Amino acid sequence: MNRPGLSTLRERIDGDVLAPGDEGYEGARGVWNAMVDRRPRLIVRCAGPEDVVAAVSYGRDNDLEIGVRCGGHSVIGHAVPADGLMIDLTPLGRVRVDPRRRRALVQGGALLGALDRAAQPYGLATTAGNVSHTGVGGLTLGGGMGWLARQYGLSCDNVISFEVVTAAGRTVRADAAQNPELYWGLRGGGGNFGVVTEFDFRLHPVAEQTVVANLWFTLEDALDALRGWRDLAPAVPRAATLTAWVGDVDGEPRVSIGFVWAGLPRGAAEPAAPAALEAELRSLGTPIAEHISEPSYLELQRMDDDIEGHAYRRYWKGHYFRELPDAAIEAFILRGTRDGHGEGLPYASLQAYGGAIGDIPDAATAFSHRDTFVEFVAAAKWKDPAEDESRITAARRFGASLAPYASGAYVNALTDEGRAGVRRAYSPNKLARLTTLKNIWDPDNVFHLNHNIAPGEPA
Ligand SMILES: Cc1cc2nc3c(=O)[nH]c(=O)nc-3n(C[C@H](O)[C@H](O)[C@H](O)COP(=O)(O)OP(=O)(O)OC[C@H]3O[C@@H](n4cnc5c(N)ncnc54)[C@H](O)[C@@H]3O)c2cc1C
Repeated sequence: MNRPGLSTLRERIDGDVLAPGDEGYEGARGVWNAMVDRRPRLIVRCAGPEDVVAAVSYGRDNDLEIGVRCGGHSVIGHAVPADGLMIDLTPLGRVRVDPRRRRALVQGGALLGALDRAAQPYGLATTAGNVSHTGVGGLTLGGGMGWLARQYGLSCDNVISFEVVTAAGRTVRADAAQNPELYWGLRGGGGNFGVVTEFDFRLHPVAEQTVVANLWFTLEDALDALRGWRDLAPAVPRAATLTAWVGDVDGEPRVSIGFVWAGLPRGAAEPAAPAALEAELRSLGTPIAEHISEPSYLELQRMDDDIEGHAYRRYWKGHYFRELPDAAIEAFILRGTRDGHGEGLPYASLQAYGGAIGDIPDAATAFSHRDTFVEFVAAAKWKDPAEDESRITAARRFGASLAPYASGAYVNALTDEGRAGVRRAYSPNKLARLTTLKNIWDPDNVFHLNHNIAPGEPA
């Protein structure tokens, strides 16, 4: 076969084609996790959907491994292929809001912050994650959990239509009427079926102001507080998402319980409701400190941006829990150790699901585990490469201590679990349906740098 040369690619592309040594190459290959230090042979910075078509075709014709980059927050760094072709969507970051129809057209490389910033001047938003420099692309295709999800569903539940460049280099639409099975698979199936160049999102009116409450406990008092926090959950209004955290504060292990209240438009919220929930939390024990704040919706969406910033080495372990027995709470507090104390232990969070997430029938989307009660993520963050092994070992130990209670895993929180992780993210019947879909849209597994649905016989 006559393989198209690099000059042909450069002619076809409106954006930039970067090779090692080119200006901008080093910056473009870096992603959120500083452990990811791979060098693509080429980085195509796409200026439009046609550039994506050209890049996919070039990669296929030249047998280059293809990685797709939006926000670069895949913890394992799936966007960056070693010696392959990185399709960099970051120049495709535009968001257009139609406030009358309550819709947002979001390009495939946009960050969550761009979506929130474009919609909020109209008092609108859709479910987006908790850190504004995360990409709309990866987050939405895997599900998309955020502070509005208990009211309005996951990010993927709010996508009305996708524009997709397929492995064959064709541009297609996927929605309820056109390619409905692909539409099903793109809502939770990750980047397995093509490169999404545009998302059409449904928007909702949301309050300008939110409430964030955290009550802090010593390890000794944490078990009772967390048990009470768990037992409160069924009665918590959908505007609130229960949260909990374990980690070190000023060198001491601490546990917090709390909630984020977001979503109801001005006038719709019962003003006393967040205060009543705060009082219920206070009644669960004797916190050593508490912090209640009332950030704007945009401030809320940026609140963890610095603590979850770039340039650190990272490793995660995640689980879903349908129930949280006392033994799981104990394991959460102990962080994979005997007594909850130790150097360089990961911190971890619990975030409640429920509400509108579970209203949607399980079969309606590829996303699985809609009956999740809480999501658990243990996160290790460090700077010194010499600590890589000990930090990763500690996070694995923590994750393993909770594994007996887990009901599955969130595909977007997987790291290096490989095929076993994919089997935890999707139920067997979903995996079979996803495999059938993969056979149709990407039989050669062009898009395999992801939590991969391998083509083949549906299991
Ligand atoms: C700091 C931080 C905070 C997070 N917070 C949340 C949260 O609140 N809620 C939540 O649900 N998740 C959260 N996550 C997990 C997050 O959803 C995943 O890490 C997700 O993969 C990030 O997407 P990205 O576009 O930033 O990453 P990238 O690394 O750019 O992309 C990840 C993968 O997604 C696919 N992909 C991305 N864009 C496209 C596209 N346009 N078309 C086709 N495929 C694409 C590709 O397979 C790519 O390899 C968080 C992650 C981090 C690191």
